[in-house]
Amino acid sequence: MRLVLVGPPGAGKGTQAEFIAAHFAIPKISTGDIFRANVSGGTELGRLAKKYMDAGDLVPDEVTNAMVNDRLKQDDALAGFLLDGFPRNVAQAYELDSMLAQTESSLSVVLDLDVDHDEVVRRLSGRRTCKNCGHVWHVEYDKPKGEGVCDKCGGELYQRDDDHADTVRHRLEVYAAQTAPLIEFYGERSQLVAINALGTVEDVTERAISALTPFAD
Ligand code: AMP
Repeated sequence: MRLVLVGPPGAGKGTQAEFIAAHFAIPKISTGDIFRANVSGGTELGRLAKKYMDAGDLVPDEVTNAMVNDRLKQDDALAGFLLDGFPRNVAQAYELDSMLAQTESSLSVVLDLDVDHDEVVRRLSGRRTCKNCGHVWHVEYDKPKGEGVCDKCGGELYQRDDDHADTVRHRLEVYAAQTAPLIEFYGERSQLVAINALGTVEDVTERAISALTPFAD
């Protein structure tokens, strides 16, 4: 299955991506995670991406497209993948078509996680991410047992720079202007399936898996 997840920041894409990818045994490819790993690792790509990420802006398309193109060529992605955070605008969507055309493949489906604006703000501002394993917790909805410590691996939790209130507002504007048009784009191609992303993590995962199962090979 070649799957793309779309939805506003805070819709739960990262969390759902982990479960969906595991269920369908495909690699999860998150552009945000790859950029963050490059920032932590102090690479040239990380240095370049950081200023855009901190401002809540999109990293330029040439940089992002080249990174995704390289990743999709790796062996584990040849038989299928879940893309989380890419494409983020219509130009990237066309670029993804060209990347897939190189291997004569195409997308199986695009899953839209639908959630309203106020809920997204609540979710993002309470979000805490593990420095070590990247797992995402929430100070109200999904609390780890010990404050500031990841239950999964014991790593330290932190608030992403781009999860602070001002940047959250800006990221939502960027989403509305650049990413939301993808819903119409893929809808017109009849490649879009939308689910309600409100409710518990388990409920949303169940909805996602039922919606996606007809598209699995
Ligand atoms: P995310 O973890 O998906 O919210 O991504 C965090 C940040 O990484 C975004 O706010 C952007 O700055 C950058 N980013 C992630 N994916 C893309 C993309 N497809 N195009 C451009 N920038 C991206």
